[in-house]
Amino acid sequence: MLSLALFLSLSLIYMIISFPLQASSNPLFRRKTTCENGKQVSDQRCCIWYDVLEQVQEELFAGGECDEVAHDALRLSFHDAVGFSKSLKAAGKFPGGGADGSIMIFRGIETVYPGNAGLDEIIEAERLVAWNYNVTWGDFIQFAGAVSVGNCVGGPKVPFWAGRPNATMWAPSHGLLPDAGDTVTNILARMDDAGFTPSDLVTLLASHSIGMQEEQDHSIPFTPFDTTPESLDSQFYLEVLLNGTAYPGNGPHGASEVLSPLPGEFRLQSDFAIARDNRTACFWEEFVFNEGKMQSKFATAMDKMSIVGHDRNDLYDCSDVIPTPSRPKNPALPTLPVGLDFKDVQFACTPTPTHTKKFKEVDGPLQTVPPFDKGHDRLQDLASAAADSP
Ligand code: CA
Ligand code: CA
Repeated sequence: MLSLALFLSLSLIYMIISFPLQASSNPLFRRKTTCENGKQVSDQRCCIWYDVLEQVQEELFAGGECDEVAHDALRLSFHDAVGFSKSLKAAGKFPGGGADGSIMIFRGIETVYPGNAGLDEIIEAERLVAWNYNVTWGDFIQFAGAVSVGNCVGGPKVPFWAGRPNATMWAPSHGLLPDAGDTVTNILARMDDAGFTPSDLVTLLASHSIGMQEEQDHSIPFTPFDTTPESLDSQFYLEVLLNGTAYPGNGPHGASEVLSPLPGEFRLQSDFAIARDNRTACFWEEFVFNEGKMQSKFATAMDKMSIVGHDRNDLYDCSDVIPTPSRPKNPALPTLPVGLDFKDVQFACTPTPTHTKKFKEVDGPLQTVPPFDKGHDRLQDLASAAADSP
């Protein structure tokens, strides 16, 4: 009995002595520090990101718009991060640095890769803001990507970790970007090689819910992938499942484009195939009916993507700085475009889930999707201003 009492008191003394050590290393116990603007952060080094945030929102995103600049900032965050290969690493070759800013530092090399076509302007626009601060290019690209998501209706709060060192090498040549004309098997293999599961792939494609094409068919620039290019919603997941009937421009263009369900809407072959493949269709279909789940999974997948090539233990959490967007607690179901009905939806998940929810059908002439060029002139102005700067 005496030895038990001695053991308990020694344990208590150990806990008291060791607690301060645990408190400094365990994020649950870490004290917040206050920045000059009065905001609290978990790490003093995060304070600078409030200054960056102000300028990013004002100059890059024109007060918080979900326009072409925001869309391209999100696209850039993916294209920098996916430049990483587990198989090259296993082979003892340089695997790429992932989310390391290489696409900006070595833009003369990486923007020549076909999959990076059209990113030149956002790279210049971001450089214009980023060089005002002592932050790395890799951190800045992921920060701007996280902020851009919150500017779009329905976009979740995406975590942001800082501390990526600057890239010292460009991502290995062609082949690390998933290709819109490729097979699902090859796209899944490429994503797996970069560290992503089939579910991650379907989730990251939510970015196409606020996306559009410019480089596939030059006769119809700014053609959106869904009817709501300013909302990060499930509309995209529903519309990709609709029966395709026509090309919106003078397509088809190579293997990347397939028939679209609506005039003015563009459909990528990869989206079409991933929505119908038995390895991914059920993830896809779930998001059609559960927008809230899509949005929360998107935040998690973006967080994973943003640290590709890094060990999280080497970074520090600055998520406090990312504004918390307001989004509906119970998002509505996506709506069927005018002129289409439930039988036009090509559900592909097997076994077929029981759907008790039904989309509203609206009769009328087939809906046309207008081009979405909001923010385009501003993006060009920012890129030109960067070109004129040192
Ligand atoms: Ca990179
Ligand atoms: Ca959308």
